[in-house]
Amino acid sequence: MSEQDQKEIEALYTDAHHWNINAGEETIHAKRMPGRFRTYKWYAASLWLSFFILPYFRSEDHQAILFDIPHRQFHLGSLTIWPQDVWMLSLVLILLAITLFAVTAVAGRVWCGYFCFQTIWTDWFTWLEDKIEGNPIQRRKLDTAAWTVKKLSKKLLKHLLWILISILTGVTFTAYFTDAYQLWIDVVTLQAPLIAWVTIGSLIFFTYVFAGFMREQVCFWLCPYARIQSVMVDKDTELPTYDLARGEPRGKVKRGSDDNKKGDCIDCRLCVGVCPTGVDIREGMQEGCITCGMCIDACDSIMDKVNRPRGLIRYASRKELSGETLPPLYKRPRVITYSVVLLLSLAGIIYGLTHIPPVELSVVHERQPLFTLMSNGSIQNRYTIKAVNKTPQQLTFKLVVTGLDGVNIKMPDGDIITLQPEGIIPFHVFLRATPAQLKKKKTKIRFILESINSTDNIKIKKKSVFIGPKK
Ligand code: SF4
Ligand code: SF4
Repeated sequence: MSEQDQKEIEALYTDAHHWNINAGEETIHAKRMPGRFRTYKWYAASLWLSFFILPYFRSEDHQAILFDIPHRQFHLGSLTIWPQDVWMLSLVLILLAITLFAVTAVAGRVWCGYFCFQTIWTDWFTWLEDKIEGNPIQRRKLDTAAWTVKKLSKKLLKHLLWILISILTGVTFTAYFTDAYQLWIDVVTLQAPLIAWVTIGSLIFFTYVFAGFMREQVCFWLCPYARIQSVMVDKDTELPTYDLARGEPRGKVKRGSDDNKKGDCIDCRLCVGVCPTGVDIREGMQEGCITCGMCIDACDSIMDKVNRPRGLIRYASRKELSGETLPPLYKRPRVITYSVVLLLSLAGIIYGLTHIPPVELSVVHERQPLFTLMSNGSIQNRYTIKAVNKTPQQLTFKLVVTGLDGVNIKMPDGDIITLQPEGIIPFHVFLRATPAQLKKKKTKIRFILESINSTDNIKIKKKSVFIGPKK
């Protein structure tokens, strides 16, 4: 071990008493250090930057991603999803849940460690804290120091930046539900509607408090996922794990000594010092561990310094640590089950997206009365038809009825049905037939809405019945 490494490790022993497991009684000031998993964490966090820019993209004449609640539409690029297609949303939710279960079964709380907004926002907030107030030792000193102009200016700058991020988060989230550019104008000119202020205000409050103050306590006390993860992991799940057999008995390294009786853990507690939730991974898997891998980076850096192989803390399964062979993914029942459900949901979503009809048609046969005997002896049935144009173009249709030869179609508002872009039109249709045309009491028929403009090439069919008197 080099002189420099020895000094650094001795400095860690001096700091180590600060690094304790925290149940909310003190602020965790985790040490930030570079490493493989820290880099992955930055990559994952950078994905969240898209959250701040996506609402400003346009597609055709509207916002590319827009949850238009007043019009009950969801715009995703050029695709518009209507309430009739909401079954796809259920499949998307199943897909997300199963993906989460599958990933957790294979590698633990990857979502918590790398992708969860609580983790990411907290990481951004603590990065700023680190830049403004210094490393964990300096931050702890600053927290207990008397109030001076220097302390006040550092604290003010930090909170100001936290509030700015919170405001940006609040407005951006709200921008997914209304025109993003108009929202900023309304916010700046204080003209935004009450619902927008309530949404923005709530988001600002929760972002500031959760990421700035509560941090890992949100995961401990508020998030249900931490509670249910235990049913998703098993002996095959690979988690950041301390290799007990290799590490124990732990003991401090002393200058010039080479104690063969000791394990590889030099009890520097750096793994605890870098843990954003204050967990000591050497005590075994704990509820507080979000599997971020920071302790792996920390321990690897120590192993490099003491010339011992990396991986004293590493991703490993319980089976692997007990000497058993880890089965391949395709032989693990849990992974197979999750994969099948995942593929089925994915197939359903792809089918739904590629088969969304441009026009939705509903036909309701009037039941009061079921039919009317007309003065000329013919039988009349009345239907209420609702047509929804899901496209951004105006469409014109004619209505055809099949299944009852010679049936007479009467539409009070003319033969041509015009549907405005993304418009809904309800109308009544009367069908008349002579008793000779009816072979039985109930005749199966089919309404067909056919586009007049051949380039539209739309043909929507709906089943119904024509009812007459008993034969
Ligand atoms: S496990 Fe690694 S980082 Fe943690 S105390 Fe032991 S040597 Fe240090
Ligand atoms: S114990 Fe390790 S993997 Fe778990 S949260 Fe702490 S640093 Fe992350």
